[in-house]
Amino acid sequence: MKKRAGVFVCQCGTNIEATIDTEKVAEYARTLPGVAYATTYKYMCSDPGQELIRTAIEEHQLEQIVIASCSPRMHENTFRKAVVGGGLNGYMFEMVNIREQDSWVHHDRDAATKKAEDLIRMGVSKVLKNKPLQVSTIPITKKALVIGGGIAGMQAALDIAEAGHQVVLVEREASIGGKMTQLDKTFPTMDCAA
Ligand code: SF4
Repeated sequence: MKKRAGVFVCQCGTNIEATIDTEKVAEYARTLPGVAYATTYKYMCSDPGQELIRTAIEEHQLEQIVIASCSPRMHENTFRKAVVGGGLNGYMFEMVNIREQDSWVHHDRDAATKKAEDLIRMGVSKVLKNKPLQVSTIPITKKALVIGGGIAGMQAALDIAEAGHQVVLVEREASIGGKMTQLDKTFPTMDCAA
């Protein structure tokens, strides 16, 4: 697979841009081996931002994508869909967090910009090693096996059964109860252990 990575640096309005010089970061990204294209945009997750990604993939024949923006918890799926929309496998993509892990936690613009460059360099190194993955669906049997019929095993079996699933409880001794059956009374209720 060709190494033609595209790097997209989001400004998040001023959330990122106020602390990180994104144009400088994009300029730096263009010097990295394997990077064919790098750009910035104000709101990368917006519809025009996603369109920018799809168009750039086609125009610059990009094969790997790095998006430097917020936490993957926010927009990993958004960007994966954009990458797929651009015709690439959705796993030829890495998201680099320069907001929560950089612009939001630093005040020094020069240092934060340098950190963004480091994070993006690592993201590029990673994405250039990525391989296309396929999502598969595997049928499962909703049935559980619990090994050990002590208190924990018995309770686990009951909980699973109450959740509506079939359970098989396996115990090597002649009776269930485990250590509990060796006790007389249990604190604090002083109930009969058996
Ligand atoms: S992608 Fe993330 S960092 Fe960029 S504008 Fe959207 S929320 Fe902000």
